[in-house]
Amino acid sequence: MMPHANAILASLSASDAAALRPHLKPTHLQQKTVLYEAGDTIDSVYFPLGAVVSLVVTLATGETTEAAMVGRDGAVGMASALDGRVAMSRAIVQLGGDAMVCDPAAFSGAALQSQSLISRIMRHEQTLFAQAQQSTACMANHEVDARLCRWMLRARDLSGSDQLPFTQEFLAEMLGVRRTSVTTVARTLQEAGLIKYTRGKIEIRDVEGLREGACECYETVKEQHRHLLGELPSTN
Ligand SMILES: [Zn+2]
Repeated sequence: MMPHANAILASLSASDAAALRPHLKPTHLQQKTVLYEAGDTIDSVYFPLGAVVSLVVTLATGETTEAAMVGRDGAVGMASALDGRVAMSRAIVQLGGDAMVCDPAAFSGAALQSQSLISRIMRHEQTLFAQAQQSTACMANHEVDARLCRWMLRARDLSGSDQLPFTQEFLAEMLGVRRTSVTTVARTLQEAGLIKYTRGKIEIRDVEGLREGACECYETVKEQHRHLLGELPSTN
C-alpha cells in the first residue's frame, strides 16, 4: 500500500500529517459495503487508496442516483466528522480496495486545531458540491451513452484499472436510468470497440474513444478538482 496515494493525505502540511498519523489505520473496503446511510451518525472518516465510493441519493420509492464519486482524489465523511457527524447521503463502496480510516473524534480534534486542515476540508467539500451540481446538469441534459462513458472514465481514473466489475443493475442505479437503457448503450459501445462487456464485468478497450464519447462533465469535474485541490497523485 502506498502511504501517500490519497490526494488529501498527500497534500497535508507536515504538522497536519503528524497530528493525523497516529489515528490513521489501513483497511480494505469490500465492494457493495454501505459505509453510511443518509442520516446515520458516521463512525469513521475514509481516505480511499484504491477503493471507490459513491455518494448516492435514495428516494422513498427506492430509486437511487449517484451525486458524487470519491476515490483516491478525496475522502468520505470529513465534513460530517466536524460537527453533528451526520451523513448527508448514502455512501456505498462501488469498487473494493484499500483505504485509510480515521476515528471522527480524533479527526475533528486535529482539524479544529489547524487552519490549513480546515481549509483542505472546505475545499474538498466544494469538489463534492461541484460534482453534485454537475451530476444534476448532466442527468437533465446529456444522453445516457455520453453519461456512461463519463462514468466509466471516472471510475477508471479513481481505481487505476481498466477492469470494472459492474452489473447492469448497478450501472442503472448509479446513472438513474432503466436497466434496458444500460443494456442498449453497453451493446453500442461494445460494437464500437470501446468496451468489452461480459456478465457483471466491463473491460475498457479504448480510452481515447471513451473520451470522445463522454460528455463535457468528465473534464469539468476533473478541472474543478485540479483547481480546488491540485493534481491527483500518481498511482505509482
Ligand atoms: Zn454530462
